[in-house]
Amino acid sequence: MKGDFVRLDKDTLKRLSDNPNFISGVYNYCDRWCERCPFTSRCMNYAISQEELSDADSIDVDNPEFTEKIFDVFKVSSELLTEMAEEHDIDLNDIDTEEYEQEIQFSKDAAKNNTCSIEAKKYTSLVKEWFESSENLFLDKEEELNNQLDLNIAGTNPVEASDKIKDSIEVILWYQHQIYVKIMRALNSKFREVREDWDDIPKDSDGSAKVALIGIDNSLKSWEYLNDQLTDNKDSILDILIHLDRLKKQVKKEFPDARDFIRPGLDEPEKYSELRS
Ligand code: SF4
Repeated sequence: MKGDFVRLDKDTLKRLSDNPNFISGVYNYCDRWCERCPFTSRCMNYAISQEELSDADSIDVDNPEFTEKIFDVFKVSSELLTEMAEEHDIDLNDIDTEEYEQEIQFSKDAAKNNTCSIEAKKYTSLVKEWFESSENLFLDKEEELNNQLDLNIAGTNPVEASDKIKDSIEVILWYQHQIYVKIMRALNSKFREVREDWDDIPKDSDGSAKVALIGIDNSLKSWEYLNDQLTDNKDSILDILIHLDRLKKQVKKEFPDARDFIRPGLDEPEKYSELRS
């Protein structure tokens, strides 16, 4: 059943953005895994998604009402942006859109041709191919764990192993495409920052690269666990581990300050320790 849609309006958005309980920009450098995030109660993005898209059935790109709602979000955000620009005496029509579009295209092309993005894209394909060819591995493992359970073999914990395998798969699939997306954003931002001569301020490129690195770290741990658990096909997992580790080194080289970037809320444990307990 499709849910009843609540239309987003400027007042709702303003009400949400004025809420002092929210951590400003916490959603800018997260991994979008809200189900696992301790910051849902402090995140405006999450509040909007709950208010607007809370019905799982409604989140469907083939559902015209869903796409209308997404357009609503853009429309209302654009209206608010125009209002803010007027308040600060900025004429948005003054912006040379042709020049701006050329710069965007230049950054996009340069980002696509960068080694980090090429290798990250390749990683998404490696993951896809590995899962497509590994169904039997999981069936064998399932049988092995069921035997351990039936025979109550000392020193084994098949339930825990099964949960951890499932979790590893979820982690790998969650970051499979996100690593590429975040690297592309980091590269695009870096080219803009260099052009506009940004200095001494936290850079979006570093924040985005940090999210990519966290995705790589979590994926590496998950692949290592699968490598321990799945006896066959180890070579192909090792190939992926080597590829991912090399990508991590490339990203660190391209964005040497990424790890030092402080993500609002997420990297401020002293301020929000109660959310992590
Ligand atoms: S900060 Fe947490 S709740 Fe907000 S969008 Fe990111 S993952 Fe979701």
